[in-house]
Amino acid sequence: NELGPTITIGEILVEIMASEIGEGFAPPLTFKGPFPSGAPAIFIDQCAKITKNTGIIATIGQDAFGQLNIERLEKDGVDISAISIDPYLPTGSAFIRYQENGERDFVFNIVASAAGKITRNDNTDALISRAGHIHIMGTLLAMPGAWDIVEYAVNTIKKRGGSVSFDPNIRKELKSDATFTHRLNYLLTQTDLLLPSGEEILTITDTTDIQVAIKKVFSVGVKEVVLKQGDKGAVSYDYYGNITSCEAFEVKEIDPTGAGDCFGGAYVGCRRLDLPLEDSLLLANAAGARNVQFLGPMEGTASLKELQMFIKNTPRRI
Ligand code: ATP
Ligand code: MG
Repeated sequence: NELGPTITIGEILVEIMASEIGEGFAPPLTFKGPFPSGAPAIFIDQCAKITKNTGIIATIGQDAFGQLNIERLEKDGVDISAISIDPYLPTGSAFIRYQENGERDFVFNIVASAAGKITRNDNTDALISRAGHIHIMGTLLAMPGAWDIVEYAVNTIKKRGGSVSFDPNIRKELKSDATFTHRLNYLLTQTDLLLPSGEEILTITDTTDIQVAIKKVFSVGVKEVVLKQGDKGAVSYDYYGNITSCEAFEVKEIDPTGAGDCFGGAYVGCRRLDLPLEDSLLLANAAGARNVQFLGPMEGTASLKELQMFIKNTPRRI
């Protein structure tokens, strides 16, 4: 933390959720929202509640959806100086509907919104030049125009002794071309902490065995892998062969969106405060589990105090 703030780059969105469970968006439904959203925004909001020292590089539109995000992030302690306001494009959005089986249907407006316009300027360069850690979301790899700033930020921060965490956020369905694969492999060589969820580590390493996959990412420079496993908790593997697992908390899932980002924000925040790995893992599990109890992806972000209270009062799955 002494080196400088934890920062991230990426989309700020509003999320608008169908109240009725089911498939698709017809017939006319009723909706709840807008809620502040966007994976990097959720991550940094949760991280800010733990370390204070955080910032985000993103673009919003000059509209009420952008305003509601900026107000939330600022209230929670995120440095918003590197959030640009596009004068023409609307703030990004995601309409979401949960299906009976827990899958989600989406209508995204990201790439063609302000959220998709992430470019360097004096404010972004100033934040990058101060940063001590950067968290990268896989969605950035495929965002047109965003790669230059990602590469610049990662190089600058690594050069000054900072660290990098990477949440691949890459689903199997995503088709990957040569550029995408090249960027992914480059990013893995720069990553200190890798935070995949489910089977993502197999997808990004093109393997079928978790142990092989983990060895593979260690061999290119990753120092720690934390596997997020939804209602099965999480496991940390470090470069030296230490394995630390953490069972999930027993909670009623209201809205699972954002759990992974809260987990990551809390974990990175705790580690940057130099909390021990085991305590950080427990707090991150708590942050993920606590968040799924709230409607709205950013509504369940929590301070250290709130997380400690949650840990005290919530049973664990056995
Ligand atoms: P997202 O769906 O937001 O992309 P993710 O797939 O990246 O999330 P998950 O593994 O779903 O990440 O959730 C992150 C962490 O949050 C888990 O490792 C776990 O600690 C906690 N968590 C998520 N869902 C639950 C749940 N239903 N019960 C208890 N803990 C949960
Ligand atoms: Mg999940």
